[in-house]
Amino acid sequence: MKLVIILLLCHMLYCVDVDKNTFSNYKDVKTQHLHIEWLLNLNDKVIDGSVEYTLKVFASQLTEVHLDIYKMNILFVYYPSNGQVLKHHVEYDPIQSEEQGDKLVIELGQAYKYGEIVKFRIKYQIGEDARALSFMDPSQTDDKKAPYLFSQCEANNCRSMIPLQDTPSIKFTYSATVITQSPLINVFMSGNRLQTQKFELMGNYDLNSIANIFQFELNIKIPAYLIAIVAGTVEERSTGTRTAVISESKNIQKYKDELEDLDQYVQYLEDYIGEYKWGSYKIVILPASFPFGGMENPLLTFANPTIIVGDKSGVSVAVHEIAHSWFGNTITCNNWSNMWINEGFCVFLERKGLKTLFKDINLVHVNSQVGNNEMNTLIKEFNSSQDDFVKSYASLHPKTENHNADDSFSTIPYERGFQLLYYLEKQINETRFQQLLKDWLQEYEYKSADESDFYRFMISWLKVQLSAEEFTTVKKSIDNVYNKWIYDYGKPPIEETFDNPASKDVLQLANAWIEGKGTKPQNYQIFDGFKSNQKQLFLSTLSALAKDITEAIMVSLEDAYHLSDLRDAELLFRWYALSINTKYAKDTTNLQKIRAFVGVVGRMKMVNPIYKALNKETATQWYQENYAFYHPLTRQSIESIIKSKTIII
Ligand SMILES: [Zn+2]
Repeated sequence: MKLVIILLLCHMLYCVDVDKNTFSNYKDVKTQHLHIEWLLNLNDKVIDGSVEYTLKVFASQLTEVHLDIYKMNILFVYYPSNGQVLKHHVEYDPIQSEEQGDKLVIELGQAYKYGEIVKFRIKYQIGEDARALSFMDPSQTDDKKAPYLFSQCEANNCRSMIPLQDTPSIKFTYSATVITQSPLINVFMSGNRLQTQKFELMGNYDLNSIANIFQFELNIKIPAYLIAIVAGTVEERSTGTRTAVISESKNIQKYKDELEDLDQYVQYLEDYIGEYKWGSYKIVILPASFPFGGMENPLLTFANPTIIVGDKSGVSVAVHEIAHSWFGNTITCNNWSNMWINEGFCVFLERKGLKTLFKDINLVHVNSQVGNNEMNTLIKEFNSSQDDFVKSYASLHPKTENHNADDSFSTIPYERGFQLLYYLEKQINETRFQQLLKDWLQEYEYKSADESDFYRFMISWLKVQLSAEEFTTVKKSIDNVYNKWIYDYGKPPIEETFDNPASKDVLQLANAWIEGKGTKPQNYQIFDGFKSNQKQLFLSTLSALAKDITEAIMVSLEDAYHLSDLRDAELLFRWYALSINTKYAKDTTNLQKIRAFVGVVGRMKMVNPIYKALNKETATQWYQENYAFYHPLTRQSIESIIKSKTIII
């Protein structure tokens, strides 16, 4: 009750969440523009960087600028106008340095007043410690011709690539010059690549060692975590009037074929939510070590090759990333405790697009059911923890202070957030909710927001749009659940099952297998006619019932469906985790395929459940075998999974 009163007061006083995961003084001074210059030395895995900052003062007096950094070598800071070198030092705390990095304090040498612009440059160097960056040797690439580099800045990892105000509440435009030393290396960033050289170089370089100079510009304001780079023997192939696929040449035709309908996906989402304002849309299929399914870098979505199945069943990830163009990239959460402002809304829009793509709302509900199962499993798992931080990850407002914000990342903001919006839509009907979302986008376009901003916006919108009587009823039904949905650690206050005809057969078949105790159900072959997401639901339903699954059932399932040999990684990882959890894959022979899988797939969603299921000894051994292949973020998450295992079985 106390919490409810505090929260209500919070709404009344318009209190705004601050970002507890930045060391920057972002309330006093705000980034307007960054100009980045990088010399890529991919052979030595080193980048020499220079950045010019254009900052606007919001304090009455400003004498210092504090920026976020993570394991980088700051060489010097200076005013470009007169060359004056500025004093700087790093505030260092051994625990925070590992978790979130350090505070870089820059002394401006004079006091700036409210409204003034501060311009300075930093020269620095980064290497393999930069946890946003994956430096790959030629042997780790598909083409095997040259090194490869890609970034992953969300959540707070941009600070390992650029010293900056690493908070989603600050948005700015950026431009960049990227200098390469090998003619084989092509570069793309999350902005428009310029055809002619527009920006002068800030540094002095040995011209004989320069192969190419690439320049980029993005004139729409974005938060730091959306800055992205990919460099390697990559090329671009058009998939329509405004979309394209980028990858190494070996598989590019296969990727292009799978993603040939990208233009249409953009159109489906525009039909629901309004104009796509970013210009072109490109998707990079990265090497298999990319830790996520996709990452919504503007104009340059990054995606994992596991989304390319061969039958277009994995393209919902592409639809999700396009949907971020509105939710996440146009309106952004203002701190990582409010990640659902990005992900919940994005999933909601993604599923509106999928309704057009699948031409069947029931198949969309199947996706929601798979998500619901995963959400409920996680809520249970987080709540069983003794750690109050971990418990809070089950809510839509996880605790992130003094921790790496990535720790709280899970399916929860996606599915719990989606379900809240699904509930709200039902209170006022689809057409009106669609308009509410369009107006929300307009009101907060290119801004950052949190749950209280959305609540206030929604209530004032409803007050104008609904009759007084209807408003009272709807507001009451929202107020009954809104704060519980966001702040409670238990299940959402209204539980949805998303039951529908397309999942009925799936659930019945899963139950029939359990009841058969190893005997195949009569209609077992209907599985072959299921869509990929129905098969996912089948496996996720079995996973929820794992304690009732005997070895005889697993043997019979394998015999019926050859599940260990499927091509679709979305199904394989579920089957493999189930195989370990039910002790079906207990001996070395049965584990071989799973061991091979975690050596070629680095997507956290797919390898984490397998590492969670393994005993400590095997998990440690497999992790060591694949350490070089895994992305720094994947390493971090597997290490914490292994650390949490205390018993060696
Ligand atoms: Zn997303």
